Amino acid sequence: LLTGSIGAAAVALVASACASEDGDSGSGGGKKVGIAMPTKTSERWILDGDNLKAAFEDKGYEVSLQYANDVAADQVSQIETMVGQGVNVLVIAAIDNKSLSGALAQAKEADIKVIAYDRLILDTPDVDYYTSFDNTKVGTLQGTYIAEKLGLDAGEAGPFNIELFAGALTDNNARYFFDGAMAVLQPYIDGGQLVVLSGQTDLEQVATENWDGAVAQDRMETILTSFYTAGQQVDAVLAPFDGISRGIIAALDGAGYTTMPIVTGQDAEVDSVKYIIAGTQSMTVYKDTRLLAEVTVDMAVDILEGKDPEINDDTTYDNGDHVVPAYLLEPVSVDATNYQAELIDSGYITEDQLQ
Ligand code: BGC
Repeated sequence: LLTGSIGAAAVALVASACASEDGDSGSGGGKKVGIAMPTKTSERWILDGDNLKAAFEDKGYEVSLQYANDVAADQVSQIETMVGQGVNVLVIAAIDNKSLSGALAQAKEADIKVIAYDRLILDTPDVDYYTSFDNTKVGTLQGTYIAEKLGLDAGEAGPFNIELFAGALTDNNARYFFDGAMAVLQPYIDGGQLVVLSGQTDLEQVATENWDGAVAQDRMETILTSFYTAGQQVDAVLAPFDGISRGIIAALDGAGYTTMPIVTGQDAEVDSVKYIIAGTQSMTVYKDTRLLAEVTVDMAVDILEGKDPEINDDTTYDNGDHVVPAYLLEPVSVDATNYQAELIDSGYITEDQLQ
């Protein structure tokens, strides 16, 4: 036992010595960061996790990075384990925004600060900060794209058929995206320029469990076989996330569409960028996860050094208990006309990945 603990101490010493040589400041020596990510089924979370881990390690922090395969209960136990392991700060992209109160109370008890990453955690006093993008604007970009491409802003065009999809109800972002898009689209629905033949327009009706593309594909297939049986065509689909967009496109493809309607998306996933180049998906909303990791790491480091982290929003994100101070980044609308400049030239995606 004695040998073991001496060995462990020596390892820790060596680790922190190495960290301060290799890292850009080495300030993290001996401190631990717990990172809880939702799933590896979507490309963006893999990038988020990798970017965060690399940046923290570069600064000399020890990192525990966990994925919970979209199972909320597993994420709760991962967080409890990290609290037990004595992490100094937690960075959490929640699967179910309302399931974390117990685990976060334990974190608070252990004096661990919590940053909600990308997705706000609701109904708990124990979330300290939030880093994300302007989530309402994500929806605004999607809705505006549809309106412009259909020529609706001219006031005369239509009627066009549109179907609506949203993300998972367990994710606070889903509502912000949907509300942002509907703020643009609803007036055209009310005015008759846009028609939702399925009649499904409430968030609860159009939500997609776990943001799962297969679930969205099923729903789109049902909509097509139930409401588009007399030769009607779908002209546009509001889709909140690239994985869902591709599911919808598969359903349309299966129903014989050779020219796709306008289909929106989010995350600039490689497969969807390929679709955008091929003309099957219309657009995506690009959120540079490298920047999100960067501002989150800066925030965590400030917290750990006892400084006030930089925030740029302290009014928008009320989690039901308090307004969570946030640092929000800008999302960017990307289609065939600007993917080169936004995604390739910026190094977010390489030409090779698109082959
Ligand atoms: C994120 C999106 C992502 C979605 C599905 C949301 O919380 O903000 O970028 O597409 O989750 O993973």
